[in-house]
Formats: sequence, C-alpha cells, structure tokens
Amino acid sequence: MTEIDYFWKNVSNLDSDIQYLGGVGPKRAALLKAELGINTIGDLLRVYPFRYIDRSRFVPIAEIADTGESALVQVKARVVSRTLYGPQGSIVNTDVPKPLWNAAKRLSVIVEDGSGQMEMVFFKGVKWVWQKMLPGSVFVFFGRPSVFGGRINMVHPEVDPPLAEGSVLQNGLTGVYPSTEKLKNGGVTGKVMCRLQSGALALCLPEIKESLPEYVLTENALCSLQYAIRNIHFPADSYALQKATRRLKFEELFYLQLSLLKQKYIRSHGNPGLVMPRVGAAFNALYDSLPFELTGAQKRVVREIFEDMRSGHQMNRLLQGDVGSGKTMVAVMSALLAVDNGCQACIMAPTEVLTRQHYANISRLLAPTGVKCAILTGSSTAKERREIHAGLEDGTINIIVGTHALLEDNVVFRNLGLAIIDEQHRFGVDQRARLWAKRSDGSAPHVLVMTATPIPRTLAMTVYGDLDVSIIDELPPGRKPVKTTAIPDNRKSAVYNFMRRQIALGRQVFVVYPLIFESEKLDLNNLELGYEEIVKYFPLPDYKVAIVHGRQTGEVKNFNMDAFVAGRADILVSTTVIEVGVDVPNASVMVIESAQRFGLSQLHQLRGRVGRGADESYCVLVYDFKTSKEARERLELMCRTNDGFEIAEEDMKMRGPGDLEGTAQSGLPVQLGIASLARDGLMLNEARAYAEKVLQADPKLEDPRNALLARELRKGKYDIKDYSKIS
Ligand code: ADP
Ligand code: MG
Repeated sequence: MTEIDYFWKNVSNLDSDIQYLGGVGPKRAALLKAELGINTIGDLLRVYPFRYIDRSRFVPIAEIADTGESALVQVKARVVSRTLYGPQGSIVNTDVPKPLWNAAKRLSVIVEDGSGQMEMVFFKGVKWVWQKMLPGSVFVFFGRPSVFGGRINMVHPEVDPPLAEGSVLQNGLTGVYPSTEKLKNGGVTGKVMCRLQSGALALCLPEIKESLPEYVLTENALCSLQYAIRNIHFPADSYALQKATRRLKFEELFYLQLSLLKQKYIRSHGNPGLVMPRVGAAFNALYDSLPFELTGAQKRVVREIFEDMRSGHQMNRLLQGDVGSGKTMVAVMSALLAVDNGCQACIMAPTEVLTRQHYANISRLLAPTGVKCAILTGSSTAKERREIHAGLEDGTINIIVGTHALLEDNVVFRNLGLAIIDEQHRFGVDQRARLWAKRSDGSAPHVLVMTATPIPRTLAMTVYGDLDVSIIDELPPGRKPVKTTAIPDNRKSAVYNFMRRQIALGRQVFVVYPLIFESEKLDLNNLELGYEEIVKYFPLPDYKVAIVHGRQTGEVKNFNMDAFVAGRADILVSTTVIEVGVDVPNASVMVIESAQRFGLSQLHQLRGRVGRGADESYCVLVYDFKTSKEARERLELMCRTNDGFEIAEEDMKMRGPGDLEGTAQSGLPVQLGIASLARDGLMLNEARAYAEKVLQADPKLEDPRNALLARELRKGKYDIKDYSKIS
C-alpha cells in the first residue's frame, strides 16, 4: 500500500469538510456553517428533522381548508390553466404569441384533483415553471397552503413529477429540517437538505461508531446508533422513527445527567466538607424568640441543610421556594448553625436595595442571639470598609450581608463556613467559584444557593443538576392568594380609581414599568411619562409618589425606596429593580404596565411583592389593548393561578421558538439537539436514574466497559458553562 492509499484509507468521511459532499460545494458549505454550524459531513448527519410529513399520502384539495394553515401538505393535481400577471395585476400572457417575461411579476397556476381546485403561486423562476406546467400534466405539489378569500393557494410549493421511482424523497415519512431564510435563498431547501442527508448516509453510515456501551443499549432496550441515524433521517416506518427518536433522546439526556452527576460526585467527595455537628446557643436563641411556628417545609429544609453541614461532605444545595415562602428565615438559621460551630457565614444578594433589606431583617432576627452582623455594599464608605474588613479577618463579625462587594480580593475571612447566595440566577458560575476560594486552607465553605424563581423540575435537574435541591413548597399560614386581573390600557381610569380606593384604606401601591435592555433609554422615557401621568392623577398633598430606577444614584434610589418602605409614599413607580426580594407588607396592589412585555416568571416574581401582609391584595396587569390573543392567554394564566411552579412549567411550554425553526432552546446554558426539557420530562427522569445507577456502580467510570462513557464525557459537549442565562 502506498503512503497516499494509506492516508485515504484512514481519513474518515464523517470528518471531511462538508463542502466535499456531493451537491454542496464551497458556497453552500459556507451557508451551512454560518446558519447551522455544520462543518463536517458528520455534523450534517447530526442535524435531525424536527418534524415529519407523511409523503406517502396525498391530501385531497377539498380537505385542505380543514387541515389548518400551518400544516405542510402534499397534493397530487392536474394543471387546469396558467396565468401570468404583470404590474398591478394586469394579465400579460393572453392574446400574445409569447408571454412578456420581463413584465411578468407572478405566475398563477390553477390545479385540480377531482375533489376541488386550488391555486399555485410563483414569483420566481416564472419562465421555467410556465414551460413545465403544461395544462393537463400532473404534478405532486408540496408546501404550506393558505386560505385567502375562500380560495386555497400555495406559494412556491415544491414541485415533483409523480411516480418518481424508488426515491426516498417521495415515499413515506419525510423529515422537515431546521432552516433559515438565508439557507432557502442559497438554494438549501427542504428537498435539497433531504438529498444531502441521503448522500451523507450513503457515504458514511457504516463509519458511524456506537457511542453507548453495549450493556447500556441492552438494559434500556435501545437501538444501535447506526439504525437510529438512518431512521431519524429516513424512517422505514413510524415504529422505526419512534425507536430512533427514543435512542437519540435518551443518549443526549443520559450523557447530560451523567456529566452533571459526575461533577457533583467529584465535588462532594473531592472536597472534604467542614464538619459542623453542633446545634448551639445562637440557633436556639433565635428559634425560641420566633413569633411564629416554622412551616413544615421550612423545618424539613433546615434539617436537610444541617444533615449536609455535619456530614463531612461539602454542601452544594439549591433552595427553591416561591416568593414569600420564608427562605430568608432558613438562610439565617443555617448561618447560625455555622456560627455555633465556630465559623462565619456570608449572605450575598444581587442588588443594593435587596441587600439592605436583608440586613435590616436579619439584624432584627439576630437581636436575641448576640451574633454580630454587618453589611458591605458598593456604597459602604472607606472607613466602614476598613472596619468590616478587619472584623471579618479577626472573626469579630460572624455574619456579613453584602452585594458583589463581598467577592473582592481584599475581603478576607477568618473562617468562612457557609456562603449563601440569594437569587442565584443573577450571579454567574464564576462568582460562585470565587466565594469558594474565600478559605485560606484550600477547603471550600458549604454553599447554599437560594432562588425564588420556580424552575420547572426538568430544567432544575439539568441546569442545577450538580446541586442537591431543597424545595419549600408551603407558604406560611394565613397568606391569601393575590387576586389578579388583566385590563387593557384604554381602561386605565378604572385602575386609577381602584388605586385611590386602596390608598384611602391606608394601603400602598407598586406601579412597575418594563425594562428591556436593548432600549433602555426608551424604557426610561416610558417610565418617566408614566410617572408624570401618575403624579397628575395622584397630586400632592393628598398623595405622595416615589420613583426608583436603575439610572439613579444609589443615594437617590435608597432615599425613594426608604420613603416607600417606611410608608411615607403611597405609590412607588419603578422599573423592575423591585422585582427581587423587596418586602413592604403594607403594599397591597401591584400594577404592572405593559404586562404583555414581561415573561410569565417575571410577572409572578413581581406579583410576589404583594400579599405579604394580612390584607387582601391585588395584581393588575395592564396590557396594550392591541396585544395579540396568544400574549393575552399568558396573562390569563396569571389570573388563573398563583402557583409559581405551574406558571414556570407553562412558561417553558409557551416560550416561542428561537430564530431557527425547530430549535426552541437557544436560551438554555446547554444546547440540546433532539430532546426537549419541556416535553421529555419522563425520559429525563429515566435517563437520570440510569446515570445514577451507572455512577453508583463505577463512580469514576474506570471500569473498562464504561470506557466509552468516560471518553464521550471528556469531549466536554455536556458541560454547562454559563449559568447567567437562566432567569
Ligand atoms: P422569601 O425570601 O422566601 O421570599 P421571606 O423569607 O422574605 O420570603 O419571608 C416572607 C415573610 O414571611 C417575612 O415577613 C417573614 O418574616 C415571614 N415568615 C417567614 N416564615 C414564616 C412562618 N413560618 N410563619 C409566618 N411568617 C413567616
Ligand atoms: Mg427573599
């Protein structure tokens, strides 16, 4: 064998540049790279259809009106007549020996199939289509029909002659691939994509190596990877498609979970945890002084945390609980466990406002315990900083509450035992890591991450899969659900009247405006206009209105916030700065302007700002009266339920597709190819349980029969890198 033969023999077609696949070439290759991230032929084979159309079946034209407008259909029909239209609808082909191609703007072809007639419309390639569509000839048309003025038409259908012998493109289930405008314009239509996949399969199917160990396939009744890849693109039948889909989804979810669980295992066994076995004086002093009984859920969660802290393993726990479920209380009790065991604790919050509020609440709770607590934020003075730094270093400060300022290098602890992060999704994973580094002996403090954004369980398992999860699923007794209504903005006066009545009862009102990053200026204008309008309707001296937004200095913000918290202002107009945490029990009304622009989870968060006292409380969602029906449905869901988890699940289901058809998960920190967190919850459970089983038997994946698993994980495809995208 010559050297060059040897070389060719060992180059895998799967790894070849996509441009060398028949029918691609440099131009289309550039498009496929830019639009779908396809670099090699192997990459192409991993782009799967997101939908299938049964192309063995022809839909009778008479039925199309019933199939709905979004479905793709296939029609077999005979050409009845052709008409070329010029500018302004003039007809340019009749009574002329030759059609006027230059004047032609649109070609309309009327076809019939015995059940009815419809129109096929072409704007491009008009001459070519005209010459092909001879009256009386039969074609197969494929596309998205629409019904316009009682008439069915299809714009730029794919056209094929009938009975194309044995072609995979014409028989059975045909895949619909993710596509973009640019791809279509560059000639990579659905049909072309199918042809490319068919070519790629012919070239490299036998080269595809199995990516799951034999025993994993057997135990989970999964088909081989080759079978799966072939049938995901060109299913032999619907049963084969089902098998292929299951195999590919399982593989993806399994590796994702295996990766997360392995990281978790390494962390909890690699970092010997600080052992904190005592429940001591400070904890008991707080417990005895509480004016209320802890809820069952709070007790359970405190126990779970204590179990971790005394276990000898480092704790990495996520605490999820709806707004108002009493997470702060749990945080303080956990901090006291650390203090009772001779350690310090820090509580980090994402905003200055929230940090100050935490500090006020926590100081109050700590009064009977004698534990020393301090606050450190961006606006702490140099002198305050010096004192706090010293107090943390010599250990006289037991608990520190702060913003990002806590992460600075000159903040040194004598013995940090527990780091609590409130509203994790506002912090990146790097910041979490910087807190771990706050111990000088190389060991890591216990970490408790709290979030009030209820995350659907499947998402939590994926995104926080490396953390243990505790859930507070019970609100303190006596909480009344917030009454929620949605009102179009042309009925604002009703809202103002309602606000007046509530203020007359001594209550306070939040009015929130959306803030969307791209147009911060514009949003600020909205906010200021809104503020002016409210001041006009609620004038001094009867009413006092405060305003808070992100562009104010810390000082101004605090001044306004304090006025509202202390009850000196009746109305607080703000952007979403108040979204997290702020607690004003006397506030009973939350008015959300342009509610259609908020995400469901965010609306739920905002609504959680009221309903904290004993009074009946209300949330008014004011929406642009031109808002679409779908967007109004989201608001109606808010009116129907107060359950954050239900809302989160729905939110995930309703979240629209991203830029690319068929890839709805662009906002996730991991990119899933085929599985969907919204739809494949059951399989996710199955895959996670199986991953747990595998790791239990072989935690480091050292067993030779798991070599394949270890190798796949090393590719790093399933590592989560960016937690900050979660909201
Ligand atoms: P979260 O941080 O989960 O939104 P908080 O910890 O701020 O909730 O608690 C909300 C309010 O409920 C606070 O005023 C707190 O004092 C009160 N609270 C907490 N636990 C209980 C309980 N078990 N019974 C009654 N009130 C409670
Ligand atoms: Mg809170």
